[in-house]
Amino acid sequence: MNQQDLIMEYFKKNPCREIKHPEIVDWVVAEYKKRTGEVFRDPDRAIRKLHQEGKLIKIKKGVYKYDPGYVENRELEDFTPEQKEAIFKRDGYKCVVCGRGLADGVEIQADHIKPKDLGGKAEIENGQTLCAQHNFQKKNLKQTETGKKMFIRLYDLAKKEGNKELAKFCTQILEVYEKNHINDHIEWEK
Ligand SMILES: [Zn+2]
Repeated sequence: MNQQDLIMEYFKKNPCREIKHPEIVDWVVAEYKKRTGEVFRDPDRAIRKLHQEGKLIKIKKGVYKYDPGYVENRELEDFTPEQKEAIFKRDGYKCVVCGRGLADGVEIQADHIKPKDLGGKAEIENGQTLCAQHNFQKKNLKQTETGKKMFIRLYDLAKKEGNKELAKFCTQILEVYEKNHINDHIEWEK
């Protein structure tokens, strides 16, 4: 009996309903005990993990929702292991921002250049290799330096795709960087 499967069983029985922590915890703890005779340790952690894996949507602290449509879309937009390998190989198994990689014992991850929420697809062309640290920065810290590099890469991709609207958007942002002399050491070739 897999604990995560048991949690998902409950959410799948209640699709698209916002479920509070105590409700799901009470159910899985009792159900797990009934089916296995064992104690379900740390169900909170298991729920958080399902959220991190994209299987549950977090509404707010302690409230989660399962939406079958969302999960399907998300899976379509994720890179397959084969695509990841192709992206890593093309980038020489190195982070495109700092150049560190497997040879330096640094963990690498496949990142969407155009983010999924802007319609970025799971295509090798839209993938780039980032070290765990820069992937984390891009996702969480949004430092100006990382941001500028990301917009340069998005601009290059938009130009290559002939996506004028997106290229224009990137140009406007990068011009703000230039005007304010933010991160001048990172060069943007128009
Ligand atoms: Zn890096």
